Amino acid sequence: MSNSNDSCTNNGSKIQLNLNEKQMDKRIESNNNLKNYEINISLHSLNYAVSQHLPSIHINCSPKLTDHQKGKDIVKALFTYIEKDFRKLNKHYIMPLGFEYWFINKNGNLTCYTRHTELFVYLCESLNYPSILLSTDISPTRPKHLPCYHTLLLKYVPNEITLDGINNELGSYISSIYNLEEMIGSITDKARHVRIEVKSIVEYDQLIQKGAITLDGRLIELQEFLAPPRILICSKCNNPGHIRKNCSLDYDSCRRCGQDRSVGDHKECSINCHRRKKDHMATDFKCPFLVEYRRSLIYQLKQKPHLLPPNLQLFIPTECRERSGRNNQFIINPISKTNNNTYNNILKNQNQQQLPFNINSHNWPTLKKQQINDNISSSSEKSIWNELKNKQMEIENLKNELDKKIQNCQLNYNENIKKLKSVLLIISAQTKYQNENIERCQTALNEFISLSSSSLNALQQLTFKHITTNMNDQNSEEHQKILQQISKSIELMQERNNLLISNKKSLNILIEQQGQLLFQAVNSLTLNDE
Ligand SMILES: [Zn+2]
Ligand SMILES: [Zn+2]
Ligand SMILES: [Zn+2]
Repeated sequence: MSNSNDSCTNNGSKIQLNLNEKQMDKRIESNNNLKNYEINISLHSLNYAVSQHLPSIHINCSPKLTDHQKGKDIVKALFTYIEKDFRKLNKHYIMPLGFEYWFINKNGNLTCYTRHTELFVYLCESLNYPSILLSTDISPTRPKHLPCYHTLLLKYVPNEITLDGINNELGSYISSIYNLEEMIGSITDKARHVRIEVKSIVEYDQLIQKGAITLDGRLIELQEFLAPPRILICSKCNNPGHIRKNCSLDYDSCRRCGQDRSVGDHKECSINCHRRKKDHMATDFKCPFLVEYRRSLIYQLKQKPHLLPPNLQLFIPTECRERSGRNNQFIINPISKTNNNTYNNILKNQNQQQLPFNINSHNWPTLKKQQINDNISSSSEKSIWNELKNKQMEIENLKNELDKKIQNCQLNYNENIKKLKSVLLIISAQTKYQNENIERCQTALNEFISLSSSSLNALQQLTFKHITTNMNDQNSEEHQKILQQISKSIELMQERNNLLISNKKSLNILIEQQGQLLFQAVNSLTLNDE
């Protein structure tokens, strides 16, 4: 990896931390004024922007190495030495141990590349190395940072809480802290963001799940640290969008002065960007052209989020965000929204990184970019198809389940209808029986009434005869009273009889109606399959 690329990523992460609100607003305003998304961004640049490279691992050797064979033996011995402990820590890692590429650099030390986060993180820790291998003293250079997947952001930590304080408090339950660092762009007079790097992915997940930690009794928000999109910059002409293999410039241009690097030593040359003739280097992210380039790049990435490997989120630096629209801080592959498990992310990335590799080619960084270029477009296409297939299968399964449920519902429905019908039939039979009983009672009452009225009539006549034959009887007044009572009773009896008859009529109508309703109810209950 060339120096210019390193400086890109560094600048990128500095800019992403520039969270000073006022500054942010100003930048966004100037963005909206410019609204220039017309810079042509190559597919190569887009793919490069979303690829996540791990930096190299430097192993210092004493005595210095000159012989490739010796280097090979040391690398082999190193893996033999670490294998047992490494596998104990990374139980899910099934690949054999090895670098993707290594070489003896011009200082006689080893420069090694791996695409596997687990191996990289393990080799970041100098305690994991032996001090001597094959009678060569070895000491690794400690990488500044762990990869993004091991990095968290503590937001707005009050300035009175020192890094040591954080280290002590976190250290009581997080054992694998690698690095704590204040984010330069985020420092205000009250608070700043702090970057935490942890070696253990288990502890990383624990922290992420908590979402916050307490420091000095204060709740501090915790977020995953997201990488900003990378910018592909040609190491020959220092312009973005292509690599030196495809560069049309016929000399290596100096980053500082823009002149031919092979002429002069370019250690003291004046800093003058070849694009704008201003006091910044050609690869400096301050350069208005690069700012504009990055904004266009992000704009286009947003249009093509499927280019992102699944489960990779990219941070959109504040000056490249659109003011309108929510969730404008990140770009994310739509597929990845379905799965947010960090462990899966890493496994997936690991799988994606398993590319065929030509060990004989020493032009490795270029080769890698090319491969990733092809790999990402085809792999993201593949993953889209796989996702579609999976979804289709899911839909098919859901449909089958639904069909089964509908069938069950129909069976239940028919069963219940049958029950209901039989209940209604029983009710109508009972009603019929009751009606017959009522009828019988009425007939009995009728007979009784006519019988008692005829008896009363007879009694009336008898009493009347008795009065007329014994006119001078002392009891005649009393007899008159009895006669009156009897005729009253006869009247009452007549009334009751009339009432009974009219009740019987209305009852008959009701019974008729009830019978019809029941009949209709039974008929309206249809079985589903009828
Ligand atoms: Zn170029
Ligand atoms: Zn120069
Ligand atoms: Zn410039």
